[in-house]
Amino acid sequence: MQLNFLDIRIYRDFNNDVQTTVFRKDTATNNLLHAKSQHSSTLIRGIPTGQYLRVKRICSTQTEFKKEADKLYQRFKQRGYSHNSLKTAYKRALEADRNQLLIPNKSKETNKSNKIIRFIGNYCSEQKEIRQILTNHWQILEQDNDLTSVIGTKPTITFRRSRNLHDQLVHSHLSKNVKPTWLENRTKGCYKCGSCLACPFIERALIYQEHFMNCKTSGVIYVMTCKCGKRYVGKTKREFRRRILEHVGDVKHRRNTSVARHINEFHNGSLEMLKFTAVDRIEPTMRIGDRQKTVAARSAMDLLAKYESS
Ligand SMILES: [Zn+2]
Ligand SMILES: [Zn+2]
Repeated sequence: MQLNFLDIRIYRDFNNDVQTTVFRKDTATNNLLHAKSQHSSTLIRGIPTGQYLRVKRICSTQTEFKKEADKLYQRFKQRGYSHNSLKTAYKRALEADRNQLLIPNKSKETNKSNKIIRFIGNYCSEQKEIRQILTNHWQILEQDNDLTSVIGTKPTITFRRSRNLHDQLVHSHLSKNVKPTWLENRTKGCYKCGSCLACPFIERALIYQEHFMNCKTSGVIYVMTCKCGKRYVGKTKREFRRRILEHVGDVKHRRNTSVARHINEFHNGSLEMLKFTAVDRIEPTMRIGDRQKTVAARSAMDLLAKYESS
């Protein structure tokens, strides 16, 4: 008779004594962190020790421990760990006193309650140097009477996951991947950037937009309002100013586009009639189909209607 619970198998041996060993589901995969994974080397070095000690804790007999440690060795080998690193970890667990391992480690809990200020940053290849620099110059901070009571004797550094391939390749159309910080929380509306060729064609408007936009904003829905009142809605994934100058070029070269035709036919090609306003933003990564274009144009018109009635 045996009972499986989480990662433990409880069973009776031939003397009818209760024993415990490691339990793994048949469907369990080898999900040990790969030795070459982009993690700090101290973290990767710590994994074998942690795992062998876990096996030691779970197995009630030394025979079971050795058997399970052997399986663990195979799984670690598959994930690129060196024989030497595994041998050291195995030896440590083999020699450890199981009774001691079963007592919860209290020192960790008391550490948690200490209010230590942490340095938190994105994990990067320079993390070793960052750690080194902070450690080397910690004494500068310690010289401050007020700081010294809260910063502890050495820097506590925590790294959060950096951008991975998944983040770079997969984009959600629905979520905005950039959270605004107080640094970029600028005024909403459409403005001139103040230093480009498209600036004279921008009509400043700051009533209905939900974003900050200017000539240099990439990914906008815009409205060209002719001084005679006629309107054209467009969108561009590129910088707004590139698209504006393209329209200007169309007029100059009398190209067959709706904006250029209008200016040339009704206003004798006068560029002064052109006034552009960005009304909304689109994510430059968005793939826009015809249907979405129509929706965008309609919402731009709605925005304008609101603008005019206000
Ligand atoms: Zn500009
Ligand atoms: Zn016109």
